[in-house]
Amino acid sequence: MNIAVAGTGYVGLVTGACFAEFGVHVVCVDIDEAKIAALQAGKVPFFEPGLEEMIRRNTKAGRLSFTTELSAAVENSLAVFIAVGTPSDEDGSADLSAVRNVAIAIARNMSEYKIVVTKSTVPMGTGAMIRDLIGENQRVPVHFDVASNPEFLREGSAIEDFMRPNRVVIGASSEQAAAILKDLYRPLNLIEVPFVITDVVTAEMIKYASNAFLATKISYINEMALLCERVGADVHQVARGMGLDKRIGAKFLHPGPGFGGSCFPKDTQALLAIGKSNDVDLKVIRAAVEVNERQTGLMLQKVRQMVGGDLGDKVVGMLGLSFKPNTSDVRESPALRLAQELMRAGAHVKAYDPAGMEEAGAVLQQLELMEDEYAVAQDSDVLVLATEWNQFRQLDLERIRASLRKPLVVDLRNIYEPADMKRLGFEYVGVGR
Ligand code: NAD
Repeated sequence: MNIAVAGTGYVGLVTGACFAEFGVHVVCVDIDEAKIAALQAGKVPFFEPGLEEMIRRNTKAGRLSFTTELSAAVENSLAVFIAVGTPSDEDGSADLSAVRNVAIAIARNMSEYKIVVTKSTVPMGTGAMIRDLIGENQRVPVHFDVASNPEFLREGSAIEDFMRPNRVVIGASSEQAAAILKDLYRPLNLIEVPFVITDVVTAEMIKYASNAFLATKISYINEMALLCERVGADVHQVARGMGLDKRIGAKFLHPGPGFGGSCFPKDTQALLAIGKSNDVDLKVIRAAVEVNERQTGLMLQKVRQMVGGDLGDKVVGMLGLSFKPNTSDVRESPALRLAQELMRAGAHVKAYDPAGMEEAGAVLQQLELMEDEYAVAQDSDVLVLATEWNQFRQLDLERIRASLRKPLVVDLRNIYEPADMKRLGFEYVGVGR
């Protein structure tokens, strides 16, 4: 089968490469000429483990190619996936301009039956909107189907998530479209991945309901962590005690500086906006967002207390800038939110991240970017662990202590054990313990 994928960001590129790995012929399309030129030269414009090799392998095998020309890509494909960005608009709702542009371009280049599939996270009703847009913009009236196939991959483990998903959700406007899409995912039958086959609007809703639930779980444990600090309980033991209950599950019960990244903040805001336009006050989601917004201030407070109250002229060393480990993505990164607040309070922030330095430097020019963990610690007043990269779990703590002006560590990811840190001579604070 031949397919096209419009948008070569995290989702589009992983989708394209993984379908090619399944043996499908894939053309990836983007309007960003520099990105396409880099991809044609075998270079992935961001860090995602395993992706560059997979792209090289499939490009060499002739199953994967990159272009800025949507017309030919549409013409030769049975299914066209839309994987462009759907960022937040000013009022929090999803900005669908890129989705609309692609839909219109697909319509203009359609001369036989196609399935137009949204992989992007789009509000309920977008499938219907795409159907209308295509109907209005076709040059020749041809039959087509619209489908929703939301993506659940996580950056940092995107390939594994695509190749071994917990489920595949397909919402389609006809049985034929659902069958074709299911066939595209046939290799997953070998590992017995469940399929949820439904209508388009339900599939669109599954994605928002899932992301908002996960975001809520994070805010929930962060709220419990705050209470743990006040009553003298250990949130790790609380989370373990909760998580062993199969109805709750252990995942997403890690306290920290709040959720970030390109999905949870924007998708919870978009869901609130969808609720509002449908006269439904989504109180749980609103609370999850409020708890998350409070988190940066609480983390700032921890650093402030550690240095004795005044952050003016203090040097804060920060380890980790990406919104989570194994990615260079700093969109809505809690580390950057905190760095910004620290600088606003008068501190100088020195930082290191294994992958996201360039990206972070572009957002916060005042950050002093260092070459490694030890350069960050050197002559800093306090060390803040902001993102839990594995390499930060094995620091030479003696060397860190000797490098810092004072042995102060604020561990926002609870990487280290408080008792061990105390024994090593640190003044240490984590989250919720
Ligand atoms: P991204 O910003 O990394 O990439 C989007 C790409 O679309 C860019 O390369 C951009 O140039 C391209 N584009 C914009 N307009 C275009 C057009 N008219 N034609 C062709 N290409 C165009 O975005 P992303 O992180 O890959 O996210 C894409 C969608 O997937 C979003 O809706 C997001 O919510 C959703 N999603 C993201 C993740 C994730 O972890 N990043 C996970 C699941 C779902």
